[in-house]
Amino acid sequence: MEIILAEYLGFCYGVKRAIRIAREHTDGTSCTLGPIIHNPQMVERLKSEGVDVVENLSDMEEGTIIIRSHGVGPQVYQEAESKGLKIVDATCPYVKKAQLSAKKLVEEGYKVVIVGEKNHPEVKSIFEWSNNKAIILETEEEATEISSCQKLGIVSQTTVSGERFKRIVDKLLEKSSDIKILRTICTATDQRQAAAIELAQKVDLMLVIGGKNSANTTRLAQLCEEKCRTYHIETVEELSPEWLDQIEKIGITAGASTPDWIIWEVHKKCQMILEK
Ligand code: SF4
Repeated sequence: MEIILAEYLGFCYGVKRAIRIAREHTDGTSCTLGPIIHNPQMVERLKSEGVDVVENLSDMEEGTIIIRSHGVGPQVYQEAESKGLKIVDATCPYVKKAQLSAKKLVEEGYKVVIVGEKNHPEVKSIFEWSNNKAIILETEEEATEISSCQKLGIVSQTTVSGERFKRIVDKLLEKSSDIKILRTICTATDQRQAAAIELAQKVDLMLVIGGKNSANTTRLAQLCEEKCRTYHIETVEELSPEWLDQIEKIGITAGASTPDWIIWEVHKKCQMILEK
């Protein structure tokens, strides 16, 4: 039996950066606004190191507020400032680019479309940077329904698949004669998805590791399921030895918010089961 790790897996640049920044503020007065990443184990570890979580600014009277990699709208910065909180901005630079692109397009008179998931915090933040003017599109059907306009600007959620972005943009091309397309997709997602699909084609079983609340991990699991038997697990405790019966090749991948130590625990347990 063989265990193969995907070429790209686990923490992306933006998440590594956000955690490094949070770890520089473990003085006991710092909180992240919402969980720093969609991984409960990492959130707990940071709490034990001295960085707590608040869901709203109203829950904080003093100290340092850390903005997570998904980013927030401009009014959050204003509110934090007016409360006298110190702001540490760990917004991923790729998300920041999407936010500022939306803002600039609105200022230049474009009707702005964000291709992405309506309820995702990153998309909400991009929407807020558009001065709450953007239209969020999840599907091609929604794209066909929007009305034509003089100037149309398009940005994307950083984690949208390149293929989905293209399909939606294709539908939008007929909506205006002046279209500005800013493909603000981050390569980390494409790389992880392509590497997971490639590996899932070669193995008998895929283990996809990451938070059940992580959209990018869930998407990896869906893509792998199309190629081979797949289990989405959050931690090593969920790995059942029976799954590996009669299996020749196991593939492992992990979402962009999955810490290395969890990946290695799963890898180690697979090895121990194989050696039995
Ligand atoms: S997936 Fe990309 S955009 Fe999102 S945090 Fe990671 S590096 Fe940044």
